[in-house]
Amino acid sequence: MHDEEASHSYLYMTQQPPNNVEIALSFRVGDALVTRIPELRWTNADPARLYPDLDATALDRHGGQLTAGSYNPDTGTLAQGTHSWLVRHAGRVILIDTATGNDKPRPRAPVLDRLDTPYLARLAAAGVTPEQVDLVLLTHIHADHVGWNTVLRDDSWQPLFTRARHVYSEMEARYAAALDGFAPAPDLPPEAFGRPDHPPMPQVYTDSLKPVIDAGLGQAIEIDGQEITEGLSFHPAPGHSIDHAVIRLRSRGQEAWFVADLMHHPLQIYRPDLRSVYCEFPSKAEQSRRRILAHAAETGALCLTAHFAESGAGRVTQIGPGFAWHFVNPTEASAS
Ligand SMILES: [Zn+2]
Repeated sequence: MHDEEASHSYLYMTQQPPNNVEIALSFRVGDALVTRIPELRWTNADPARLYPDLDATALDRHGGQLTAGSYNPDTGTLAQGTHSWLVRHAGRVILIDTATGNDKPRPRAPVLDRLDTPYLARLAAAGVTPEQVDLVLLTHIHADHVGWNTVLRDDSWQPLFTRARHVYSEMEARYAAALDGFAPAPDLPPEAFGRPDHPPMPQVYTDSLKPVIDAGLGQAIEIDGQEITEGLSFHPAPGHSIDHAVIRLRSRGQEAWFVADLMHHPLQIYRPDLRSVYCEFPSKAEQSRRRILAHAAETGALCLTAHFAESGAGRVTQIGPGFAWHFVNPTEASAS
């Protein structure tokens, strides 16, 4: 590992004190500036819990391909986190996913339960207030991707990005609403998806998306590659969730993909057959993962992940029938 990588890893390896504003990591993609807004970091993920089908020798074989900021061979644990990506492009301020949010009751997931993180201070350190956000693009409606859509004010969940158009899959929203007891969706999941491994966490639609829709800030779309705003489009990658999307950014001939929960850790790039414990439709998820990884390897596009530690960004290469991952260091680190 290079020294530069080591220092970035170090920044994110330890849980940050609550009011410590981290340095924002930024990447250039053509004319766009992409900045990671960190929320949580943890270094103690148990690989056998994250990947229920993990075979005993997988880390013996692939541990050497993982960097020290992502895998600790002494403890056998994986580093991960949650964050958003802020995109400034063509005069617009865009957030890709909104992490977990503060105060959200998530008793089924202790690491996400009733958080109190300085995420908004980190967003401010990147130069953006919630009122300045024009667009919120949501890859899927899971607790750790839509949480900052709303904040607790006067005992109710209210939109945080009060000027922003929030864009999300119509199918994801309808499925999540049905699971929370709103209008039934008897056509979901589609038969071809098979039986879901498990449903998504409840109440996420109710506390994090419905208030946005009620305020007239929601835009439900079909995930069909259409351009939502200049240079940004949603593309299908279902499986992790019912209509999980990956988002493409194109600017001046450069391409980046926000791959969301296609992978949860670099280990899955070396072993794309591994489903994460969070994937709802595992075989669909694997198909999507292999397809997008092949595209990323072919094009050399920058991949911006949702749960990787270190810089969170990297490139995929093809090695024989498989893939390899290389973290990319930020183009510029703008101090807070
Ligand atoms: Zn996630």
